[in-house]
Amino acid sequence: MREGHLRRVGAVALAALAIGALARAATLREPAALEGQPLLSAATWPAEPPFPHRDRPPPPPRPVTAIPAGRPAVRVPILMYHYIRVNPDPRDVLGFNLSVTPADFAQQMDWLAAAGYNPVDFDDLRGYLLGHGGLPANPVILTFDDGYRDMYTTAYPILRAHHFKAVSYVVSGCVNSPLNLTAAQVLEMDANGIEIGAHTVSHADLTALSAANLQHEVADSKASLEALVGHPVLDFCYPSGRENDAVVRAVEAAGFQTATTTEPGVLHSASDRFLWTRVRVSGGEPLWRLAADMGPAEPGEPVIPSPPPPTPLHGPPRMPVTWPLRPPRTAPQAAPPLEGAAP
Ligand SMILES: [Zn+2]
Repeated sequence: MREGHLRRVGAVALAALAIGALARAATLREPAALEGQPLLSAATWPAEPPFPHRDRPPPPPRPVTAIPAGRPAVRVPILMYHYIRVNPDPRDVLGFNLSVTPADFAQQMDWLAAAGYNPVDFDDLRGYLLGHGGLPANPVILTFDDGYRDMYTTAYPILRAHHFKAVSYVVSGCVNSPLNLTAAQVLEMDANGIEIGAHTVSHADLTALSAANLQHEVADSKASLEALVGHPVLDFCYPSGRENDAVVRAVEAAGFQTATTTEPGVLHSASDRFLWTRVRVSGGEPLWRLAADMGPAEPGEPVIPSPPPPTPLHGPPRMPVTWPLRPPRTAPQAAPPLEGAAP
């Protein structure tokens, strides 16, 4: 009798947990643009444009876990993509290596979802390392270098179908070029879960530039993208991973908060935030290779009653959390005399 009662109580508690998780998932999926608007009847609901992968069922609820605050370094694989396309020229080996086919990319995103990975962005990682916000367990950051147009036409619909955040590193001087993102595409993605980062004005080798040209490539790309999206652009990526001390100093002096390289690695902390390593995803590589390169995920702990909120997927970004800029390096100044101290 007592055992039956306990079983019923347990079943009710489990059902309540499942309903809670489903409700949270539903909240996550509600576009902010619809909030506060009257509901339309089915007859007046506008027809949706064709949207591949849209009908994927929501994943089954799994235990809610998060990374507890205070870890000084966290394993967050930062995946590095370039083109999401079928390489058009079979003789172009470099192009092949930089091109993940749409089918492979969709399979990789399916695997990330099935394996319980949670894509976050650099704002989330900055917030965690600064003690301002939480991170879900198994975090991963998806970055797309160079701002190619297939980021919008091919990757973005697949990311949206999974409700995944990502980061687009845009070469500011190439916006609106035939192979690159248009300004309107950058704006649309910026408002829908894709963080915009800077990747210089012209994709120059920053280690080979004069001080003035280095400043132009770094600072002007930031200013130009900020003028486009209307909010701070705080994350940078060194073209071809080319950096040295002077380049890193220029990126920090321009007001960026993080920068990524092409060196392999997954463990990141505040102290190395201008040299964050990444996981390269190459054309034709099998899924097991990607899983091996990512290594074991950062474990979380059960969260009661709900995980700390990462930045929203839709709508304008929250105020970014930032490290204070270091003062310029000058000769140390003598401390002022203490009040009341003997001269
Ligand atoms: Zn690049």
